[in-house]
Amino acid sequence: MMKTNEKMIINGKRLDGRKPDELREIKMEVGVIPNANGSARVSFGKTIAIAAVYGPRKLFPRHKQESETGIVQYNYDMATFSVDERKRPGPSRREIEISKVSRLALEPTLFLKNFPKTTIDVFIEIIQADGSTRVTAINAASLALADAGVPMRDLVVGLSGGMIDGVPIVDLCGKEDNYCDADIPIAFLPNKNEITLLQMDGRLTPKETKAIVRNVLHVGKEIYKKQVEALKKKYSE
Ligand code: ADP
Repeated sequence: MMKTNEKMIINGKRLDGRKPDELREIKMEVGVIPNANGSARVSFGKTIAIAAVYGPRKLFPRHKQESETGIVQYNYDMATFSVDERKRPGPSRREIEISKVSRLALEPTLFLKNFPKTTIDVFIEIIQADGSTRVTAINAASLALADAGVPMRDLVVGLSGGMIDGVPIVDLCGKEDNYCDADIPIAFLPNKNEITLLQMDGRLTPKETKAIVRNVLHVGKEIYKKQVEALKKKYSE
């Protein structure tokens, strides 16, 4: 978290005019990559993520196979052109970490034991980044898995929360991500009220943290509704 003298909330409005608990414009579409088993494109404002799912399919090389369960391989990549200053190509430490925690965020909703020796491959490409990319990507992954027909206990909703001058906010844009008091990306199963990802960058009291998490779980229900609509749209067409 960097510090800035710029006010992040003025007269109750954020930098982009949003209220503290207001989401950016959200767009979701499934079935955007014909060759994948399932796919989705999700944008939160200027942040755009594309997800492609392949599998469950037999895992090779064979020594990677688990005889008792299937596995998930999650690959988060931020395109070189997704940010203002060209990003160095190739997986960074940040991308490796995000891939790992995102995989852990999805696994609890899957019935991996039913698919021994297989892999479900999830490829994420961030084609434009303006904050909250990992949670935007998790929404895309959730939709792509559902689109692929992979059995799931629940969809997975991703949403970031934060705090500016003691006020909880949701869906941080890039500038807020860099400069607000704290940034908490969260993923959860909306019908099970189960949190599967919770990270924190910044310093907060337990009370502040709880307020942000509660707020994210509440506003996140809107995202769940949009996911369901996006899935219905494909199958009603
Ligand atoms: P998240 O995107 O999940 O919030 P971070 O907190 O690591 O993850 O990143 C916050 C934001 O910082 C990103 O969404 C992106 O807008 C910006 N950012 C991340 N990495 C880079 C980079 N290499 N170059 C420029 N901007 C970046």
